[in-house]
Amino acid sequence: MALYRTEGIVLRVRDLGDADRILEILTRQGGRVDAVAHGARRPRAKLAGVSQTFTHARFLLWSGRELATVSQAEIVYSYPALYEDLDRFAMASYMAELAEVVSRPGASQGGLFELLSAGLALVAGIDRPLVDAAARFYELNLLRVLGMAPRFDRCVGCGSVAVAGFSAAMGGVLCDGCLGRDPQAVALSPATAALARHLLARGAAGLAGLTPERRSVDELGAVLAGFLAYQLGFVPKTPRVVRQLRS
Ligand SMILES: [Zn+2]
Repeated sequence: MALYRTEGIVLRVRDLGDADRILEILTRQGGRVDAVAHGARRPRAKLAGVSQTFTHARFLLWSGRELATVSQAEIVYSYPALYEDLDRFAMASYMAELAEVVSRPGASQGGLFELLSAGLALVAGIDRPLVDAAARFYELNLLRVLGMAPRFDRCVGCGSVAVAGFSAAMGGVLCDGCLGRDPQAVALSPATAALARHLLARGAAGLAGLTPERRSVDELGAVLAGFLAYQLGFVPKTPRVVRQLRS
């Protein structure tokens, strides 16, 4: 066992025994780590604050064969706003779930930690109507980090700049003439493609002052959900859970 320092964001927590918690942590340099926080569920426990989903902290960990152990932790950011609003909580949970699916134990993916950190800060602090646009920003840039971002600038069939649809299988937008090449292709408006290009090019700061059409945010959401399902087999659990809470 070795003691090491790392910075991480808690993706998920689960109970262990009577008083402990296992934290699933996305670390900045070392990929995903599961670590036991002993006594975290006891009242006034030292590790209680850090043992919450979405907490960003500096950890001192003992490495272990299967599970690490939290020796000390110091919170860098916690996001109370995410716990006060069901929509923000759901979106942050969705982001953490997506990070969990694409991250690997022990191996860092350049940019994933920074993207999740930016995404959580956005969802916690952005004006409410932009929460969904923040999720689109996160999905697109997560695909970029993985080297899988679909093309929104030119038709992936012929290179034309005219946009009429989107093909998850071909990896981007299609013009009217090429739409028939993928029977599963869906319609996509030029305004939605422009929103996607903006979210890919401008970083988190590009969301400030953005006033996207609701229709484009939703259309991009549907297209990216299809792309994530096709390319990664990813079907999120989070939105379903929230719909159940609301009904
Ligand atoms: Zn074309």
